[in-house]
Amino acid sequence: MPIQPPPTLIIRPAIIKRVIDLCKKVFTKNTSKNNQTSSHATTLDQPIELSRDQHPVSRQLISQSALKVLYRLNKSGFDAYLVGGGVRDILLGLKPKDFDIATNATPDEIKGLFRNCRLIGRRFRLAHIVFGREIIEVATFRGHHDEQGTQDKKTSKQSEHGMLLRDNIYGSIEEDAQRRDFTINALYYSSKDFKVLDFANGVSDVNNKIIRLIGDPETRYREDPVRMLRAIRFATKLDMQMAPETSKPIKDLSPLMANIPAARMFEEFLKMFISGKAVANYHQLRKYNLFGYFFPAVDQKLPTLNLAQKSEPGGDDLLERFIIQAMTNTDKRINNEQRVTPAFLFAAMLWYPLQNYIKQINLHNQMSPQDAFFAALSEVMPEQQRSIAIPKRFQGVMKDIWILQEKLVRREGKKAFKTFEHPKFRAGYDFLLLRSEIETDNDQLAELAKWWTDFQNVSQDAQLQMVRGIKSAPNSRRRTPRKRRKPAPSTAAK
Ligand code: ATP
Ligand code: MG
Repeated sequence: MPIQPPPTLIIRPAIIKRVIDLCKKVFTKNTSKNNQTSSHATTLDQPIELSRDQHPVSRQLISQSALKVLYRLNKSGFDAYLVGGGVRDILLGLKPKDFDIATNATPDEIKGLFRNCRLIGRRFRLAHIVFGREIIEVATFRGHHDEQGTQDKKTSKQSEHGMLLRDNIYGSIEEDAQRRDFTINALYYSSKDFKVLDFANGVSDVNNKIIRLIGDPETRYREDPVRMLRAIRFATKLDMQMAPETSKPIKDLSPLMANIPAARMFEEFLKMFISGKAVANYHQLRKYNLFGYFFPAVDQKLPTLNLAQKSEPGGDDLLERFIIQAMTNTDKRINNEQRVTPAFLFAAMLWYPLQNYIKQINLHNQMSPQDAFFAALSEVMPEQQRSIAIPKRFQGVMKDIWILQEKLVRREGKKAFKTFEHPKFRAGYDFLLLRSEIETDNDQLAELAKWWTDFQNVSQDAQLQMVRGIKSAPNSRRRTPRKRRKPAPSTAAK
């Protein structure tokens, strides 16, 4: 589901303390209750009901927009619940990233109630209610698909691998809970009676920090292989462990990821790598054979994984150090609330595959560096696009970052000043720094990075001096050497 800008919600320290106290209270209560039921039975006949004094979810912790949606649906006679991350994260004492609502109103009924509503998705139809930068996602309760596949193809469709191509069968709240992915995501908060309904022992799993798929793991992964990514993502994001039955099938079922459309993979890339947990997610994706579905050209060149040692020699160690450093920097920036562009990480991921192509092209052809670059680009990009549909605007920035690597070398005359004014100079310079950090034995690169760092920190006069000090680099346009004219036949020999 699309990443939305975080809602503006201020949580005061007193509220946080109250939430933590209540969490402790609820968790100790529920552990004993849930111990009586099987911890592996993922759905319950009757939900565990937590009344207002047994859980920390309060209206103060829910965005005003989400509350408005809940109230209007209720007022119009529909059931409506806050569900998913909104409830789970509050139970964990965290600030929810977004608020999702589940209701028995159909998408058209929801649209009829909200002017600011747009219906999205064919595979999984739902309503987005737009409040400025905040979007509240409202989904109609999902029901079961019949085994014989006799349902209308417009609402229910399954691929030969068991993947749900359409999931638009509506049902009851109990069925909806069974159709959700993990137990911790099947918690429903009602703004009518302030109860939390726990259909799958989710509170116990929140308490014990366990990611547990609802239902038969293999079937659920086959229905939607992205659940494998979600299992990893929630485990790293929430610092939880996957239940053994949830993690076990992943490696064997990883090839199912090949069926996920590239556009959805772009959304999943953002959630995996532009979330402040890229490095942790990377290691998990590698462990479960899933990284290659994001970046096949990179995956092929990485050291083979040896679980005992982490990595074995033989693969491209430089490549792995480079992408890990790029991810580490991205995580740091996100966790310091600095801006990041996905284009930078894409550029880093594909930098060495691109360089390898350029090398190969140069082995067999005589081309100018620019021509070799564009020839390599026309191989690398379409290959990558088959896995992740990178939007054009990011492709443009990636190209700029790469082209700047060449421009940053050529500094004589007015060139350095022109490069400095390039709209993507900062990204290009950061990329150069990253390269020099990793290629530690490349003294020229280190000097170049230092030159640019200094250049940004001195007066214009000093910048002119710096430029004058540069020895003119060989012309970048290495043309195909001209064929020598055959010497005129020497008459002397005759
Ligand atoms: P966060 O928004 O913090 O990443 P979330 O749990 O809210 O986490 P969303 O992608 O917003 O995740 O989805 C909202 C809810 O919809 C989930 O909590 C889950 O109940 C359900 N859901 C989302 N994706 C799937 C899926 N692929 N299969 C089954 N249920 C899903
Ligand atoms: Mg959510």
